[in-house]
Amino acid sequence: MASGSSSSSNGDSKRQRTLPVPKGVAELKTFTPDSSIASDVIPSVNFGERANGRQPDMIVLHYTGMPDVEGAIAQLCTAGTEVSAHYIVLEDGRIVQCVPESKRAWHAGVSAWAGEDDINSCSIGVEIVNRGHDWGYPDFPLRQIAAVIALCRGIMLRRKVPSHRVLGHSDVAPARKKDPGEKFPWHSLANSGVGHWVQPAPITRGTALKLGAISDDVSNMQAAFRRYGYNIPTNGKFDGATMEVVTAFQRHFRPERVDGIADQSTMATLHALLASLPPDAAAPAAVASK
Ligand SMILES: [Zn+2]
Repeated sequence: MASGSSSSSNGDSKRQRTLPVPKGVAELKTFTPDSSIASDVIPSVNFGERANGRQPDMIVLHYTGMPDVEGAIAQLCTAGTEVSAHYIVLEDGRIVQCVPESKRAWHAGVSAWAGEDDINSCSIGVEIVNRGHDWGYPDFPLRQIAAVIALCRGIMLRRKVPSHRVLGHSDVAPARKKDPGEKFPWHSLANSGVGHWVQPAPITRGTALKLGAISDDVSNMQAAFRRYGYNIPTNGKFDGATMEVVTAFQRHFRPERVDGIADQSTMATLHALLASLPPDAAAPAAVASK
């Protein structure tokens, strides 16, 4: 069954492992990949229309979080799972497109960023094959990261996605998600012009805000995360939701220590990021806070 929907020529099948095309998907109508570096198309049945014709201006990066690539592709493409992504980047660097960029793929789930909570309508979803935290969380191979960079650069150029809107799933769904996780080399992406990044401020001893604190300092800290785009309450209480946002921020921007404590290094890194945002990227006025 592993043929038919591939858009690449058969000529390279000797060099590359055949893609595991799930049963039933091979008969689906294929399409021309939006990215010129996508080598294959495995059409997914799981997608819809973007709300109100919203054009995507965000990229959300994920890991697949499953023990093997066959299971991951089946999950993202077959009926009944209710999940999909526009692209899957394999460990060997091959890029498979599953949903046309014009359509709304189902990758983000309940999520919010910078005042929007229909992240699927405003984003392109990229699944990076990696077993994830529950299955040993291996390092991302360089070949795979190079492919993610090339793919994202193309999308950013074609869709005018600003760097600060290349995000991880955990950024937009901090209460539910850890992917792509603290091993994901965001600094390497930034070196190639993908994503917003500053050198994390060094970890020092000093005052820190943590779970249970209630103060104006906590309100100010929450407001700063909110200005950056995180959906965080600004109630002055360092509650569970606040800790989840701090943790998500650290996974992305200060991966050396992911502990949910708003220490000086975390806050200095956040303020450096805020200071280096483009002027038109200013904060959401209001986000539907839960
Ligand atoms: Zn995800």
